[in-house]
Amino acid sequence: MSYKEKLIEVQEAINLAAAEVKRNTQDISLVAVSKTQPIEKIEKLISLGHRVFGENRVQEAKTKWKPLKSKYDGLELHLIGALQTNKVKEAVALFDVIETVDRPKLAAALSKEMSEQKVEIPCYIQVNTGEEKQKAGVYPEETADFVNYCRNDLNLNIIGLMCIPPANETPALHFALLANIAKETNLENLSMGMSSDYDVAIKLGATHIRLGTALFGSRDT
Ligand SMILES: *Cc1c(COP(=O)(O)O)cnc(C)c1O
Repeated sequence: MSYKEKLIEVQEAINLAAAEVKRNTQDISLVAVSKTQPIEKIEKLISLGHRVFGENRVQEAKTKWKPLKSKYDGLELHLIGALQTNKVKEAVALFDVIETVDRPKLAAALSKEMSEQKVEIPCYIQVNTGEEKQKAGVYPEETADFVNYCRNDLNLNIIGLMCIPPANETPALHFALLANIAKETNLENLSMGMSSDYDVAIKLGATHIRLGTALFGSRDT
């Protein structure tokens, strides 16, 4: 299948899921996850008009997206992977949205760096909905306090919540939980749903779905 056909297929699935719950397709943004994908493949999507992408590693993203950003207008690059504090400076210089704010130390470093670079990058709080020890994110019951801290004490522009459900559990429970926390904390955006479950995520209110394999095929790592 060509990239064009894949994009159309995904867009049709988005439309279908949105229609089922009477949501407007315009309220759902497709983040094309281009981690591990070479520039040539990314450019195929860009040339079809796609502009919103996600990467999970700062170094890899910098190598690929510095040249792409100087070549194409209107790109919106999301950081969707763990961010170490020693990479904050580069991340703030490169990304348009940071989806993985998950601890006070990182939030403070982002706040400081954004003041220094005089930019305000919209951020999401990553929530560890499955309370998995090895996974990043704040626990559900800590989220409201953390959102308040980021907003009031650090002046960060927090616009939503993001989650990655546990691999072996029904994602719907986690999406519903994230949607609930967003409601309680007055946050508009929900980044949830990947290639295998984005229809479910849309039905539960996702505003941003993050798709890699559905668009690029399997990743050769
Ligand atoms: C890789 C990745 C995705 C995309 O996963 P697919 O299953 O390929 O769609 C989405 N979100 C995050 C955080 C990822 O790391």
